[in-house]
Amino acid sequence: MVEKVLEPEHARELHKHILNRAYRKYSLLTVVWVLGALTHAGFVGFFYKYGTPELGGYNILSVLMWLSAGWLTRQGKLSAAIWIIFFEIIVFAALSAHYVGLDAGFHNYIWCLAALMVISPSIHVLAGVALAFLSMGIYGLLYVFFDARVSTNIPDSLWTPLHVCNAVIAAVPVIFSIGTVRRTFENQHMKFERLANYDSLTGLPNRRLGARALQDRRLDPDSSSNIVALADVDYFKTINDRYGHEIGDAVLLAIANFLKSALREQDLACRWGGEEFLILLSNTRMDSAAAILERIRKDLSEAQLIPEFPELRVTMSFGLASRGSQESDQTISEWLARADAKLYQAKRDGRNRVLS
Ligand code: GH3
Ligand code: MG
Ligand code: MG
Repeated sequence: MVEKVLEPEHARELHKHILNRAYRKYSLLTVVWVLGALTHAGFVGFFYKYGTPELGGYNILSVLMWLSAGWLTRQGKLSAAIWIIFFEIIVFAALSAHYVGLDAGFHNYIWCLAALMVISPSIHVLAGVALAFLSMGIYGLLYVFFDARVSTNIPDSLWTPLHVCNAVIAAVPVIFSIGTVRRTFENQHMKFERLANYDSLTGLPNRRLGARALQDRRLDPDSSSNIVALADVDYFKTINDRYGHEIGDAVLLAIANFLKSALREQDLACRWGGEEFLILLSNTRMDSAAAILERIRKDLSEAQLIPEFPELRVTMSFGLASRGSQESDQTISEWLARADAKLYQAKRDGRNRVLS
């Protein structure tokens, strides 16, 4: 199955499927087809009442077009849906200009069309912009070819409210599209930030964010002493071999949660890689850091991490290095190398210990 998905043909199919789902989610049509169908249903009664049965008849067709556009959108056939709407709005604008006149404002729905063309992911963005301008060009041409008012049964007092109503309803999809774009942008920005900076298994900051925190601490002039600790799970390979990789993952998650809850507010634990964690203790002298980590080491070695396997125990080895604000000539790699050397020594000395 996995191999199948990885074949280019299948990868393309999968990509298309994912995009299609995303398109439907962010398509304006997913939401506005209901508004379109309802608005035109209202217009049917309006036009029959005020003596333009031609428009009443066309609006019955409009309701059907909007409903079919909604159905097509749900089927993932966005392009077909959009062309139906394009046709519906342009023809309605021209017919209403002809039978009623431009003062009624029924041609304002072309604004929605322009927004729809630009935001619809099934149309290339440049084509969408071109179609939006074409739509607005047609909007302008209506003023060349049609009059402000055609003699109808619409009373004088109704023209202004009618125009305002049409303009406001037409604004809804435009406002909605801008809101959708903003929401999508913000959600994706946050998602990318999370993906780029946090480890997906443990939820801890990843190596990238950890390295940035190290850099920040190095530059912090208020901090008299910072401690970096590299912590590595002892014989973790054995846990994987004995309990399986999935339980191994659960153990890593449990260790991460354990570290998070055991550390102080100002400290930071991050997943440095594999079964290795980096712990940063700010504004801490070496003797207190060693005491804090000694307590963590002891508590962890006694903790029952996985309830299904009460006998499962893990230990960790810790290598510590301090860095004062005066040691500004020392690079982060040198600082880390000292912690790593201590960790290596802790492993050699028999593991399950804190070395500073
Ligand atoms: P030592 O005490 O010397 O550190 O021994 P060790 O077995 O912990 O070290 P070694 O480097 O030999 O093995 C580390 C193992 O950690 C091997 C690797 O498969 C496992 N590992 C690394 N990342 C993950 C992970 O995300 N999930 C699981 N389940 N295992 C992982
Ligand atoms: Mg290890
Ligand atoms: Mg290791």
